[in-house]
Amino acid sequence: MRHSVPSRVAAVLLVTSALPLAAAQAAKAGPPAETAIHCGSLLDTAAGAMRGESTIVVEGDRIREVRPGGTDRAALEAAAKAQGASFRYVDLAGSTCLPGLIDAHTHLTMQFGPTSYTDQFRLNPADYAIRSTVYARRTLLAGFTTVRDLADRDNESIALRNAVNAGLVPGPRIFTAGRPIGSTGGHADFTDGYRLDLEGDPGPMAGIIDSPADAWKAVRQHYKDGADLIKIMPSGGVLDESRSGDNPQMTVAEIEAVVAAAHDYGFTVAAHAHGAEAIRRAVIGGVDSIEHGTFADDADIALMKAHGTWFVPTIIAGEFVAEKAAVPGYYPPQVAAKAAAIGPKILATAGRVYRAGVKIAFGTDAGVYPHGENAREFALMVQAGMPPLFAIQAATTHAAELLRQQGNIGVIAAGAYADIIAVAGDPLADVARLQDVGFVMKGGTVYKLDGRPVE
Ligand SMILES: [Zn+2]
Repeated sequence: MRHSVPSRVAAVLLVTSALPLAAAQAAKAGPPAETAIHCGSLLDTAAGAMRGESTIVVEGDRIREVRPGGTDRAALEAAAKAQGASFRYVDLAGSTCLPGLIDAHTHLTMQFGPTSYTDQFRLNPADYAIRSTVYARRTLLAGFTTVRDLADRDNESIALRNAVNAGLVPGPRIFTAGRPIGSTGGHADFTDGYRLDLEGDPGPMAGIIDSPADAWKAVRQHYKDGADLIKIMPSGGVLDESRSGDNPQMTVAEIEAVVAAAHDYGFTVAAHAHGAEAIRRAVIGGVDSIEHGTFADDADIALMKAHGTWFVPTIIAGEFVAEKAAVPGYYPPQVAAKAAAIGPKILATAGRVYRAGVKIAFGTDAGVYPHGENAREFALMVQAGMPPLFAIQAATTHAAELLRQQGNIGVIAAGAYADIIAVAGDPLADVARLQDVGFVMKGGTVYKLDGRPVE
């Protein structure tokens, strides 16, 4: 079928001219844009199998069809144009296509460095929010089309999510916890280490709880703030300025109250926990995932398996903080001591948890190390004993399940969001290939092509 010149001109005008908002919305309601992606091979994460040459047909923001074999480009183009849709062809014949990756543990609104402990007295929430747009773009271009953001400081991640969803800034799909919830002086208390007249008493509005009643208030405040899920800090952590990195900091009653309130509002609960006792309490309290899990003992691991609790390893963060702990002045002395004690242990724990058959989702604690290097985690997971396919499924199908987004993300299949990436070569033979993503599409929009960002 021939395509007339006037409508081709109209299509160009729709893309290039600055239309008033109402006209742009009317244009969006028209026939959706169609893209055919020709992949040299395709990783079917749902089936756990590498397929050969394949064609993905994208309509609007979703995948319409996945066909084996090459593209009949002319036929697809003619069919699209017959519907009045625009058509684009992407040649990835030399690459492996796989679903956009999911990092189930990021902090897009922060990036730790030697100046972080003084920055907090100089920077405003707006500074963190603007920086987060840079980190979000970097993360997307690294092939991560979805993140679960596990705590910010002043709900900047909620504003970031809204800006990404509105199409104002490029970034991954964001499911965010907003502020973390923990106890006075604990890992969620940003006033740790402050002098007395500055530390104040943050309270449930700022996520600091000291009773089950406070827990209900804090969770309900998150609902009001627009969070997507809840993050709790039942154990000490590395980067805050208190003494212990692993002590228990919440009671079972407090954790149960958070979980009960969270489930009322459809939130899942992620628990940062390094210490064995804190992990035990969090699992018994009913949380959905344990983050880090450094000192998990055999009883904790058996409990996680029995409760169906997810484990999110964040090995790269452990390796990074252990390395920086040896650099004089990089962290305050108390933080450096915790980093040296905890960091190097996460890799071995991840291996033990994997061998026990606990459900694992990929997560990195991005922001503890520089954003955009997320894919380095894959090689560390393999080093811990996980097969490459398992590590990739942890970042696709498994993470989608943790996010309750099965079928929407983490798969290349009809009906899923068109979140698609590609790498040269075979990532099952070498997971480090995922550190060099050449193509990124999110929701049908191409953000990276031939290894370069698309402006
Ligand atoms: Zn974290």
